[in-house]
Amino acid sequence: MKWSKTFIQTLRENPQDAEIDSHKLLVRAGICRKTASGLFTFMPLGMRTLRKIEQIVREEMDAAGALEILMPALQPAELWQKTGRWDTMGANMFRLRDRAEHQMAMGPTAEEEVTDLMTGALSSYRQLPVTVYQIQTKFRDETRPRFGLMRSKEFIMKDAYSFDVDAEGADRSYWTMYRAYERIFARCGLKATPVQADGGDMGDSMTHEFHALADAGEDGIACCPECGYAANLERAERRFEASVDPDCEMYSEVHTPGAKTIEQVSAFMGVPGAAFVKSLIYAVDGKPVMVCVPGDRDVNDVKLKRFLGATKVELAGYDMVLAASGANAGSVGPVKPADAALRIVADVSLRGAKGRIVGANKDDYHLKNVDFARDVAIADSDFADLIVCGAGDACPKCGRKMELKRGIEVGQVFKLGTKYTKAFNTVYKTETAEEKLCIMGCYGVGVTRTLQAVIEQSHDKDGIIWPASISPYQVVIDLLDPDDAAVAKVADDLEAQLEAQGVDVIVDDRADRPGVKFKDADLIGFTVRAVVGKKGLEKGGVEVKRRSEDKSQMKVVPPSEAAAAIVAALA
Ligand code: ATP
Ligand code: MG
Repeated sequence: MKWSKTFIQTLRENPQDAEIDSHKLLVRAGICRKTASGLFTFMPLGMRTLRKIEQIVREEMDAAGALEILMPALQPAELWQKTGRWDTMGANMFRLRDRAEHQMAMGPTAEEEVTDLMTGALSSYRQLPVTVYQIQTKFRDETRPRFGLMRSKEFIMKDAYSFDVDAEGADRSYWTMYRAYERIFARCGLKATPVQADGGDMGDSMTHEFHALADAGEDGIACCPECGYAANLERAERRFEASVDPDCEMYSEVHTPGAKTIEQVSAFMGVPGAAFVKSLIYAVDGKPVMVCVPGDRDVNDVKLKRFLGATKVELAGYDMVLAASGANAGSVGPVKPADAALRIVADVSLRGAKGRIVGANKDDYHLKNVDFARDVAIADSDFADLIVCGAGDACPKCGRKMELKRGIEVGQVFKLGTKYTKAFNTVYKTETAEEKLCIMGCYGVGVTRTLQAVIEQSHDKDGIIWPASISPYQVVIDLLDPDDAAVAKVADDLEAQLEAQGVDVIVDDRADRPGVKFKDADLIGFTVRAVVGKKGLEKGGVEVKRRSEDKSQMKVVPPSEAAAAIVAALA
């Protein structure tokens, strides 16, 4: 392909709204252009990489025995109403009505749709197990679309769904997909780590997310460098010991005028944050619950929700806080709140805590010397792991210190059990004609997010560094003297030789200066660059260099050996 015959539009300036490198490069390198907030157009160059990623996904899904289908992106509301998700998806779902006033959704995912499909299509155990997948556009009205393709309103997802006769089969399907995901990301040149995750409202059983570790990642991951334990912070656990505080005298009030936050009270009293207990009133499915955690730690809403078996947890509003505790948010505490029947739950590390400082349930006052066993009306079963893990917390598996990393979630595998098949009565007949519910799993890859995650992990100050497997063109030939017939012929011959070997190559035949060509080649990040110019040919030949290498590693080879050198550099 000649550059002059394609449509590559690179930019020198970073897009105004881009916060992270991969978003800047995505647009500057001419991979995508923004259409509107959270909406992107794939340009010809970007399409090539997108198609290559899709192809890798397809090959690995097919190799894992999954079967490709394509379901409508436009989905009727009835399907979502069957599982109750028409309501729980909330504002994240794009909704519309057709001309007959039927409510519809632009599919954010497709568990309901596929389960409905299978309910109609399945009858016998002989048809099982079966895994189907599609590569299709999904729609989510994200609260904050940002970071380019990472969190967009419309994106391409590969979603797969498995149906099995029993739990063992479902387990096999799950791990088959898990291994396929490892291969997909490896083939895309992405370092993706599987981490334990929280199932959210998808089902409560096993799930792993695949994270591309990167500072720009939106998710926190706790990792143990010793034993390999890795979990999303929403889910990450820690090994803990109960507090062994010395006995303390009876609690007493301290006047703390104007000090509201732990930092302020801690500064006012000259005591470290860890001596404090943070007490927060949460609205748990609309009812108040007090949550206590050590002053230097944060409540993990996801763990709280799971522990309480709640549908919705959020910080309580002003009125609820006042009614439950008797004070405003800065002075709430677990000793004798105004609502004597208020349920108090606390992080496990507070079991046995003594000598702590808490809010006094009276504005501008705190209590010191609080003993949780003596002074707080809390059931023993209401101590639970409720905090967000931090660096240095003990690994739940081996007890060594964990590290915190940031990750971009590029895929997720879920065991769904019968959550959906029950709602749709997706049954099959056993050998003895008994009807049983199918056991389901679902598996998603963010195809467009993966594309950008590769850029985030693989770039430098000059631009993208594409892995050969998904580079828009694997090789760029910078033809420096396009008007010199002899030089152009060297480039043409090299192009033909490479194409004959199945290498995709673009010849930069533009009339621009060499500097412009080198800059663009680096910005776009083709895996290998070959320079064919009059001067170079006179001096010794074709310059071949991997994008990831610096100039000192450049090889100069005679034209007759250039194709072989390029193929070797790609390997
Ligand atoms: P997140 O937690 O980042 O919002 P999710 O867990 O809601 O993602 P899933 O329902 O697991 O997403 O969807 C499968 C995959 O689709 C994700 O692993 C991710 O790679 C991708 N994805 C989800 N939301 C978006 C989005 N708004 N833009 C681009 N890709 C997305
Ligand atoms: Mg997910």
